[in-house]
Amino acid sequence: MDGPPAGPGPQALRSYDVPLRTRFRGIVRRSGLLLHGPAGWGEWSPFPEYERPEIDAWRDAAVEAAVRGWPEAVRDSVQVNSTVPAVDAERAGTFALAGGCSTAKVKVADRGQGLADDLARVEAVRDALGPSGRVRVDANGGWSIDEAVRALRALSRFELEYAEQPCATVEELAELRLALARAGIDVPIAADESIRRSGDPERVVALAAADVAVLKVQPLGGVRRCLELAERLGLPVVVSSALETSVGIAAGVALAAALPELPYACGLNTVELLGGDVVAEPLVARAGTLPVRRAEPVAGSWPAGPELDRWWRERWSSVAEHRSLGLATAAEEQR
Ligand SMILES: [Mg+2]
Repeated sequence: MDGPPAGPGPQALRSYDVPLRTRFRGIVRRSGLLLHGPAGWGEWSPFPEYERPEIDAWRDAAVEAAVRGWPEAVRDSVQVNSTVPAVDAERAGTFALAGGCSTAKVKVADRGQGLADDLARVEAVRDALGPSGRVRVDANGGWSIDEAVRALRALSRFELEYAEQPCATVEELAELRLALARAGIDVPIAADESIRRSGDPERVVALAAADVAVLKVQPLGGVRRCLELAERLGLPVVVSSALETSVGIAAGVALAAALPELPYACGLNTVELLGGDVVAEPLVARAGTLPVRRAEPVAGSWPAGPELDRWWRERWSSVAEHRSLGLATAAEEQR
């Protein structure tokens, strides 16, 4: 909800709270803050368990969106993948085909499930997309090296585009790549958590731990920082979301639109996973693509309750001095 209409500061912030359509990375709701500034709206939605200084990068991304705006786009639409949560095989095909996508990312190694569940889900997705579709898996670091070799050997029959963060650490990813090569298992490795949470993304390149880098705008501090990082890494980039509303997704789209090369479909169709959105026209894929545009929230849509709203504002205060960030004042926002 919007704050009281007086003075500069948190009045430029609006909290939201939406349900997820299905449990995803262990959560059933998504909430955050929307910031308004001279360049438009930005989203600040670090997951609840994240703390400083990690959430400062998320703040920088939101402030960039609201105050500075984004670099120029070199394309006017971006290809995106569908996301298949750790649902049972019968439901997996429907998720895979969402938005007319021809690439699907399938969650695997979910807690409480086994390789048989993953195989059934990936098989259902491959069947749904057909032989020309692309299928990638994301284990969120859930496998040991041995488990990853075993799983990817079995899953490779579905011709995976790549496996995202099969193991937790950069060292394990590097070792896994060697083990896969030795075993003749041809599945490229993408680094996600190892890029955005390790504190040292370039280690992925130094240890030859991945073939593909997953970049997310909020965790990595904004579109410009991601562009610089992409250049330093020298790996093909897949832009993905942090499960944001369309306001946050627009920042990911801006990064995907500004990258010189974009060889893979981006993981930006995740508004599909939300049970609501804060804009009138959500950024969800049609014919597998998203348009490059900003997103403006509708006032009063999916407001957080008073307690959650207070929690987000206090959390924001812990990372921000509003005046120095150049955000809109209440007076400006009311115009
Ligand atoms: Mg991932």
